[in-house]
Amino acid sequence: MTTTRRPIVAGNWKMNTTVAEAVVLAAAVRDAVGAASGVEVVVCPPAVSLFPVQAVLEGGDVALGAQNVHFESGGAHTGEVSVSMVASAGATHVIVGHSERRARFGETDEWVSRKVRAILDARLVPVMCVGETLAEHDAGRTDAVVTAQVRAGLGAVSKDEAHRVVVAYEPVWAIGTGRPAPPEGANETCGTIRSAVAHAFGPGVADAIRIQYGGSVTAANAATLFAQPHIDGALVGGASLVASTFGVIVAAAEARNR
Ligand code: PEP
Repeated sequence: MTTTRRPIVAGNWKMNTTVAEAVVLAAAVRDAVGAASGVEVVVCPPAVSLFPVQAVLEGGDVALGAQNVHFESGGAHTGEVSVSMVASAGATHVIVGHSERRARFGETDEWVSRKVRAILDARLVPVMCVGETLAEHDAGRTDAVVTAQVRAGLGAVSKDEAHRVVVAYEPVWAIGTGRPAPPEGANETCGTIRSAVAHAFGPGVADAIRIQYGGSVTAANAATLFAQPHIDGALVGGASLVASTFGVIVAAAEARNR
């Protein structure tokens, strides 16, 4: 299929890899991905590895992302890092509102919105995660949940800048379970997200904004997911820790664009 939206494949390494391991993995990803024409490729190591990984990726086609930031620019926030800090370490992208942060660290829609605002202000790319829990899915509330999360998360964003945000649709029940959403169902929900963006910012922004799918993406299922018209790449957890697998997922996104 052909689309004008450039797919984006991002690896979320979560709380894995020491600095030394992150450097080795980053070099392997850089080599596995090669010249990624037509696909934006990002790796998101733990915060302590951003700077050393940046040195490995410099000058290549793989960008660097942070897994989280605080929305304040500085001050008494022990244990947190600001947008300017991750930018100074080389990050160009930041994951926001991952379900693990929402569920385990109390990240609210309001915080997500403030983080998206701070990231855009610093000219970085927010990768804003939304997605329903299993209970919400089973109750038929998926569309209502993701629509509310999208509206709230983009609540402080203007029409002119909304296209810079990447939305990652990650059904919570599919993350790390080996049970991805069926491609058609994932596409439908990404379409719902696009409609929510259209409602807030108009059809032009909705057509331009990129929506990733995330949740048990593998080398085996990536191409089928990327063949769906509303899915513009993936946020990849477990499979991003194996460079060769991640390379196959990136190649599947590249093939989608031809
Ligand atoms: C994630 O945590 O963003 C994720 C999608 O994980 P996994 O690919 O392991 O399901």
